[in-house]
Amino acid sequence: DGLLVQDDQGRVPHYNHRFLDQWNLRAAHVDGGLREETIRHMRDMVLPESSADALEANAKEQGRGGGLLHLKTGTILEQTASPLLEDGQITGWLWSFKDVTIKIMTEEKLRLLAATDELTGLWNRRFFMGRATAEIDQAAHHRRPLCLVLLDADHFKTINDTYGHAAGDAALKFLADTLASRLRSSDSIGRIGGEEFAILLPNTGPDTARIILEQIRIAIEHGRFTHGGRELGFTVSIGIAAMHDTRVSVDDLLSIADAACYRAKTLGRNRTEVRTCANFRPAETSCPQ
Ligand code: GH3
Ligand code: MG
Ligand code: MG
Repeated sequence: DGLLVQDDQGRVPHYNHRFLDQWNLRAAHVDGGLREETIRHMRDMVLPESSADALEANAKEQGRGGGLLHLKTGTILEQTASPLLEDGQITGWLWSFKDVTIKIMTEEKLRLLAATDELTGLWNRRFFMGRATAEIDQAAHHRRPLCLVLLDADHFKTINDTYGHAAGDAALKFLADTLASRLRSSDSIGRIGGEEFAILLPNTGPDTARIILEQIRIAIEHGRFTHGGRELGFTVSIGIAAMHDTRVSVDDLLSIADAACYRAKTLGRNRTEVRTCANFRPAETSCPQ
């Protein structure tokens, strides 16, 4: 760890080379005390998303100064400040800077891996359902409309059977990219089954959702992906469950969207069906139109 001892006169009785390396400093910057410009140099290296400032506890308050410092170089340092006491009086501070870059990056990567679908990079079913639940709570609380969409590729088995499984995978990636590029960043997209995708549109009523999803359906119908030198295409069927002025559980909303999608399939596929769930009671098995 990088270490620095600062006494109450602003002098630096001790430090180590690790500290100098971490902060891109030379001994001359520290010997004889920490000058304003050295502290400014250190603070300039810290990104605003950090949970502390470098050497923040200068004010003689115990317990301050700890936190993560995200440096502009990409390094993440965990800063701690321990007061040095003499006869119960604070006579200085011991600062330590632990490099936690790999630990934090690994944690973030693991969190992301646990939440995403490997093939498409979209949220996986479990994470999507969690987000959807939170969004539904928000929408119900603020009495805002919300739509949950289920999108299923048409005759997908034929793509696999005709061109091979890798072609099917390429089709799923193409589908995921089309969705991601056409939706807002506030919308959540998940791959919730093999060739089934769910989309959560917060703050969106059924009419707007239909327009957005019809544009997506048409884009997929006319879009092509390349596999093995061939240009291939397919269509999708879409079911929309629209929630307004009521609270519907994510499971119920999903089964309503599923029923709408099933209807799109039976009506000939490559189409969008909407079901509105105003004053829907969870005990009901089907949603009133
Ligand atoms: P429908 O229009 O009724 O939805 O017909 P479908 O063929 O799309 O539906 P079905 O449920 O019969 O088949 C889904 C197919 O999706 C079967 C399965 O092999 C394929 N599939 C599921 N996950 C993957 C995957 O990760 N990669 C590939 N290549 N295929 C997948
Ligand atoms: Mg399916
Ligand atoms: Mg299908």
